[in-house]
Amino acid sequence: MTMKSNFIKLSITLIALGIFTISNSIPTQTVAADAGAAQPAGDLQAAPPNDSTPADLLAALEAAKRKAQRINCVNNLKQIGLAFKIWEGDNNDQYPFNLSTNKGGTMELCDTGANGLDRNSWQHLLVMSNVLATPKILACPADAQHPAALDFSQFGADHCTYLIQTGTNINDSYPQAVLAICPLHRNVLYCDGSVQQLSQAKMDELMAQLAQKK
Ligand SMILES: [Zn+2]
Repeated sequence: MTMKSNFIKLSITLIALGIFTISNSIPTQTVAADAGAAQPAGDLQAAPPNDSTPADLLAALEAAKRKAQRINCVNNLKQIGLAFKIWEGDNNDQYPFNLSTNKGGTMELCDTGANGLDRNSWQHLLVMSNVLATPKILACPADAQHPAALDFSQFGADHCTYLIQTGTNINDSYPQAVLAICPLHRNVLYCDGSVQQLSQAKMDELMAQLAQKK
């Protein structure tokens, strides 16, 4: 593939992603001299100069990919929050980790790590498989260490990015309690179902609080 066709392919991709405007992406055609004197001189200079290099476009494509991954991660957490809501509605208003395994929950599997988050996060999520559409939403798209499982029969710790905070005080009565975290994006799901991306400083503060609680 030639440099030019690569350039055009990238341009088309970026237009599709809404990154570049059309005027930036289409190589500027200077109006040929034979266009005649009828063309006003001003029109000849109307098109903006095309100074985007393939390297610029690759960098923009990479940035667009990272942005899409961050947004997908937020959507994953929102769907996980919704699953908790639906599941508790079906189970005496309790999150799975606050309901005994005898009653279909995961209370006996709770195992808070030194960071204040549960080592068995994946188990608390797996038990909600009937209300989670797919295990794909349990793997952050930016997480190369935890690729998404194809289906729940194959789902395990290796396929779960998100970390759950367990405890009897993690429930609807504490809407601002942290329910789940994506450590890669610093995206945080709260018990009220909202998701926020924290700054590094805020995340450090939160992680220190969680570790202290432990
Ligand atoms: Zn993420």
